[in-house]
Amino acid sequence: MEKEYLQVRGRIFDIQKYSIHDGPGIRTIVFLKGCPLRCRWCCNPESQEREIQTMITGGKPKTIGRDVTVGEVMDEVMQDRFYYRRSGGGLTLSGGESLMQPDFASALMQAAHERGINTAMESTGLAPFRVIAEKILPHLDLYLMDIKHTDREKHKFFTGVSNELILENAKKNSRIRAESGDSCSGGARLQRHRGGDTGDSEICGLPPWGGAAASAALPPAGNGQVRGAGQGLHAVQRPAALQRADAETDGCGFCNRAAG
Ligand code: SF4
Repeated sequence: MEKEYLQVRGRIFDIQKYSIHDGPGIRTIVFLKGCPLRCRWCCNPESQEREIQTMITGGKPKTIGRDVTVGEVMDEVMQDRFYYRRSGGGLTLSGGESLMQPDFASALMQAAHERGINTAMESTGLAPFRVIAEKILPHLDLYLMDIKHTDREKHKFFTGVSNELILENAKKNSRIRAESGDSCSGGARLQRHRGGDTGDSEICGLPPWGGAAASAALPPAGNGQVRGAGQGLHAVQRPAALQRADAETDGCGFCNRAAG
């Protein structure tokens, strides 16, 4: 009988394969629809509204968003399992904000873990921490936390919401990871924002992620953003799902080569 979590439904607006910028290795990104922020530089504005929308592109109407089950998404994600194995990649949830659909996000990552697939999530962290701790962290290998700005007023100006809960959640997340002996997976993606009335570059990061060391020489990604700073820190760590697979196979969970 099919597992219940495979029937959990959620709303996405895209699935992107062969990504190399959203976590270690080659990854499939599932973009969930709906976001509580309204960033001025948003590169996925079609992700913001939770509702399915119709947009006019090239003079033709295009439906943005579709409802899918976890099983349907995983069928697509698993098509690239050999790439994940070779590259240390996996599944990345993005958006939008996955925390707006915590049951769906949780079930997706659980399904990935049960198939030995590494999980990452790009997220602003804007949700009650109980949701993150209970639904997300148990199935998450790498939290790419997207902190838009550490200054409260500037965060509100640029995104439309305060950063108080976000920063509080970042600290709690980091603390939990540190207490569990995992100094790597509690990382935050750092972003540098240019322009606007800040007039200059600003780099935001919170200890203990070592963000300053990772902030140099970042390639520009358009829309005034520079992204990917956290990845260099995290790509060196073998994902938890693989470590489990290693332990089970007494070697490499990807290629089944013996340890050593
Ligand atoms: S958090 Fe991401 S998806 Fe949401 S508005 Fe900001 S840039 Fe867009």
